Amino acid sequence: MRRGMASRCNVPELPEVEVTRRRIAPYLVGRRISSLHTTADSYFFLTPPKRLRGCVEGQRVQHLDRLGKYLIAVLEGDGRLVIHLGMTGQLFAAGAASVRLLSATARASLAPDEQADFQPDDHTHLHFVFDGDGPDIYLRDVRKFGKVLFVPAGQNHPRLEKLGVDALAVTPELLFSATRKRIVPIKSLLLDQSILAGVGNIYADESLFLAGVRPARRASRVTRRECARIADGLCRVLGRSIETGGSSISDYVAPDGQDGSYQDERRVYARSGEPCRVCGTPIRKIVIGQRGTHFCRTCQR
Ligand SMILES: [Zn+2]
Repeated sequence: MRRGMASRCNVPELPEVEVTRRRIAPYLVGRRISSLHTTADSYFFLTPPKRLRGCVEGQRVQHLDRLGKYLIAVLEGDGRLVIHLGMTGQLFAAGAASVRLLSATARASLAPDEQADFQPDDHTHLHFVFDGDGPDIYLRDVRKFGKVLFVPAGQNHPRLEKLGVDALAVTPELLFSATRKRIVPIKSLLLDQSILAGVGNIYADESLFLAGVRPARRASRVTRRECARIADGLCRVLGRSIETGGSSISDYVAPDGQDGSYQDERRVYARSGEPCRVCGTPIRKIVIGQRGTHFCRTCQR
């Protein structure tokens, strides 16, 4: 159910989360959280709000990291505040420009006089106030598939423990060793978050096209050289999507209000029936592991 919804609704993928990280970090890092306001306790809070407030209030943010699709604010004393944006989560700083962070749908629901000055609403699950000058920071999540938790120093959490290497840190050797003796399709292996964290459906399909490898091929039959091409392809498509501000997907608007433009560069994803940009063969769509999968029969072997 969850997965089906996710693929239909186009959740923020790794590039969107990385774009958010880069844009919000200057407003967060180095500042001391004087207070945190939250909505009432719910499934959104893997750490209950009261405890969460106790853990972060008075703490300075040391840096803002990312692992897969999780944002991780490392606090003084090395406790970690972990945020997953889910499907519609938006992390942004207060100010006139911040409303542009909201999705087109959310913006449309605002009255004109609200657009210059965001006010926390029922969907604003986190509201950070800091010592000194500078804007407050909000986490707003209309559909509430996001998550927040606090991980004390020296501890880990099952959600983070089960994640493999961040997808942007993939290496040919890592991928090659992960594929040995694996009978699953290479596409499914790329989506396995315990191997690579943060590879979404679009990036798996696009990287396999760049590598010339059919998505249904058994992982163990992918050669060392092909693994290198897939790793290179993944870094290229993820990197390019980050550069362009994240994919242009229905409900996502980059933190500066720009729609991403990556979709214009898609070679196979969501191009079923359209001619391959390299050879003209119609792009085929099949289902692998319940995920729509796009490839070119001619360019991919
Ligand atoms: Zn082709």
